[in-house]
Amino acid sequence: MGAAVAFDYDLVVIGAGSGGVRAARMAASYGAKVAIVEEFRVGGTCVIRGCVPKKLYVYASRFRDQFDIADSFGWQVEASFDWPTLVANKKKEISRLEAAYTANLEKPGVEIIRDRAVVSGANAVRLMSDGRELTAKYLLVATGARPYFPAIPGAEFGISSNEAFDLPTLPKSILIEGGGYIAVEFATIFAGLGVDTTIIYRGDCVLRGFDEDMRRGLEAGLVSRGIRTIYQTTIASLAQAGERIQATFSDGVSAPYDVVMFATGRVANIDGLGLESAGVRLNDDGTIAVDAFSQTNVPSIYAVGDVTGRAQLTPVAIREGWYFAETVFNDNRLAVDHSLIPTAVFAEPEIGVIGLTEAEAATHGDVDIYVARFRPMQNTLSTKSERMILKLITQKDGGKVLGVHILGPGAAEMIQLVAVAVGMGATKADFDRTIALHPSAAEELVTFKAPSYIYRDGEKLGG
Ligand code: NDP
Repeated sequence: MGAAVAFDYDLVVIGAGSGGVRAARMAASYGAKVAIVEEFRVGGTCVIRGCVPKKLYVYASRFRDQFDIADSFGWQVEASFDWPTLVANKKKEISRLEAAYTANLEKPGVEIIRDRAVVSGANAVRLMSDGRELTAKYLLVATGARPYFPAIPGAEFGISSNEAFDLPTLPKSILIEGGGYIAVEFATIFAGLGVDTTIIYRGDCVLRGFDEDMRRGLEAGLVSRGIRTIYQTTIASLAQAGERIQATFSDGVSAPYDVVMFATGRVANIDGLGLESAGVRLNDDGTIAVDAFSQTNVPSIYAVGDVTGRAQLTPVAIREGWYFAETVFNDNRLAVDHSLIPTAVFAEPEIGVIGLTEAEAATHGDVDIYVARFRPMQNTLSTKSERMILKLITQKDGGKVLGVHILGPGAAEMIQLVAVAVGMGATKADFDRTIALHPSAAEELVTFKAPSYIYRDGEKLGG
C-alpha cells in the first residue's frame, strides 16, 4: 500500500450556479474541505440572469392582462410603465440573493475563489489569474450552459436572454428567434411591457415536443396579445442600420428592429475548460458524459447541471449536486430519477406539465384522455374570451395517471402539487376520490366523468 496522496482540498467545484453551490454546501456539511471557483457572480444563470429575474419580469408584464380586465370589476386604471425602475429593482433583488447564496456557502466553510479555473489533470485545476494550481481528491464541473447563436452573418448584432434583462432602454420593437421556453417567455414579457414583438421560428408552431393542445393554446394566447409569429423561417443575416438592426429572413424578406434576440437553445460551457487534459469524455452534443451518479469516465471527476445536458432545469441541477455529495461524501449512493420532471413555461398564458403528452401516451397502450376548456373565472365579467385548458391522460378505465397538462393562470403552481400524486403512481380513481375545492380551476382535475376521447390500439376513438 502506497502512502495516501495529500490534496489541497477534498473537493474543488468549478461554477457557483445552482448545481455547484448545492454540491459544495452539502459536501462541506459532511466535513469535506471544499473550494468553489467562480469567474462571474455567485448564483449562476438561474439567479443572476435566468429563472429568477425572468419571473420578476413576467410579473411586471402580467399587469397588462390585469389592467385589461380591471374595468369589468369596476376599476378605472391609468397605467404607465418605467423600464429603468424594473431593471434597478431587479438588480437590487439579485444582489440580495447573491449575498444569500454567498453566505450559504460560507456558513459550512466552503472557500469561494473568484477566478476562472481550468482543469489541469484528473485531480487538479489551474487558476487563470495567478496560475496557482489547486489539487483535490474530487473535481466537480458545474459550469452550466450558455446561449447558442446560429452561425449567420451579423449574428453579433443580436443579443441573448443574458443581455435582455439589462437593455438600457425598453425597445419599441423586438424580433426573437426560436420557439422554445426562452423565446415564448421573453416574447410575452416584452409584449406585456408594450414592445412590438415578433417571434421567428423554423418550425410550424412554438414549443415542439409539448402536448399539441398546449402548443395551440399558447399560440392563440401569443396572437391575442399582439405577438406576430413567422413560422418555417429563420434569420439569414443581421446588419446594423443606423440605430436599428436590419434582419433578413431565409425567405428573402427584410425588416428593421430595435433589438434582435436569439433564443435558439443553450450549449454546454466547456470551451477552454481543459477537460481534454484529463481525458474527460463528451457526448456528441458537447455535453459532459456522466453515469447515473454524475461520474465521468475519469473516476475523480464528476459533473452536474446543464453542462451534462440531462435536463436544463435548475431543480434538476440542484438534485444532481445534492446526490453527488451524498454519494461521494456521505456514503449514501443516490441516483437522480430524471423520468418524471414537472416543468412550466412562464409565458402568457402559462403552461405546466408533468408526464407524457397525448401523442406519447397513445403509443404507451390504451389510454383515456380527459380535457376541460373554459374561461378562467377571473375573465368572466370581461369580454376576454381566452380559454384555460386542463388535460388528464390516464391508462384506460380509471388506471394510472400518465400525464397532466395545464394551460392558464396558476398552471405552474398546480403542476408542482399534482406532480406529487403522479410521482406516487396515482390513478384516475385516486383523483376521483379527492373532494373538489370550489371554486377553483384545479377542481376540474378531480371532477372529470367520462373521457373526452380514448385511444385503443393506437387509434383515436370518440371526441
Ligand atoms: P429550447 O431548446 O427550449 O428552444 C430552442 C429553440 O431554438 C427551439 O425552438 C429550436 O427549434 C430553435 N433552434 C435551435 N437551433 C436553431 C437554429 N440553428 N436556427 C433556428 N432555430 C434554432 O431552448 P431555449 O433557448 O428556449 O432554453 C434553453 C433551455 O433552458 C430550455 O431547454 C429549458 O430546459 C431551460 N429553460 C427553462 C425554463 C423554464 O423552466 N421555465 C425557462 C427558460 C429556459 P426546434 O424546436 O426546431 O428544435
